[in-house]
Amino acid sequence: GLARHFVTKDFFGREVHRVRAVDGVSFSVAPGETLGLVGESGSGKSTTGRLILRLDDPTAGQVHFEGQEITGLGKGQLKAMRRRMQVVFQDPYSSLNPRMRVGEAVAEPLRAHRLFKTAAERRERVAQLFQRVGLDPRFAERLPHQFSGGQRQRVGIARAIAVEPKLIVADEPITALDVSIQAQIVNLFMDLQQEMGVAYLFIAHDLAMVRFLCHRVAVMLRGRIVEMASTEQLFADARHPYTQALISAMP
Ligand code: ATP
Ligand code: MG
Repeated sequence: GLARHFVTKDFFGREVHRVRAVDGVSFSVAPGETLGLVGESGSGKSTTGRLILRLDDPTAGQVHFEGQEITGLGKGQLKAMRRRMQVVFQDPYSSLNPRMRVGEAVAEPLRAHRLFKTAAERRERVAQLFQRVGLDPRFAERLPHQFSGGQRQRVGIARAIAVEPKLIVADEPITALDVSIQAQIVNLFMDLQQEMGVAYLFIAHDLAMVRFLCHRVAVMLRGRIVEMASTEQLFADARHPYTQALISAMP
């Protein structure tokens, strides 16, 4: 599998003694697969994603990616790994530099990983990427605030796919969007998977879009995975009361 896990993450604060945000979670994502990670606010989804991306280190346990234990990687190896594992956040506004033209932002990982020699080649590639995510290539000259939420998410996706990763961790990538736009972005994720064979860890707080997009679903509750099954199986025969509640809450 692409990412494997058997991890625990504690946060230590001044007031709160200890928060076990992720508690002995274990799963793997197969190449080209979409695994949905669903659960209520505070259940540990984002922390799990950050552990996989190694934006955070686990308190205990290991994370594997493409046969390598990534928990102990040094800086150089981490950089090589980051080329193969990318992230899409809820609102890319939080990760895009407000004063940087979005074309530059999408070109950044290309430059960081030295994928193209010249600025002209990178610009060409950025134009291609914009087209691929359904944006006019001329929008590359714009600043982040000159986009709608859906368009900005397309920019975030263009940046994530620029380096042709094997795994994308998408942390609630449609939650902040209009319902009509949500379906468009989910379709874009699906199309890109067809084209690129990329795997997704798709984080969401409900099951609505997960049902269309995901091959399997893991349900998280208070730091633990309480149920994991194929999407079909989950909807046909949910075992855990919390999963059952999530399903009956669907419109
Ligand atoms: P949401 O749906 O609201 O995004 P989530 O499932 O992504 O929630 P996490 O963000 O992973 O949940 O948080 C899990 C738990 O860990 C929560 O109790 C949260 O308060 C705590 N937590 C997360 N990050 C930190 C941090 N940096 N320091 C202290 N506690 C944290
Ligand atoms: Mg979260």
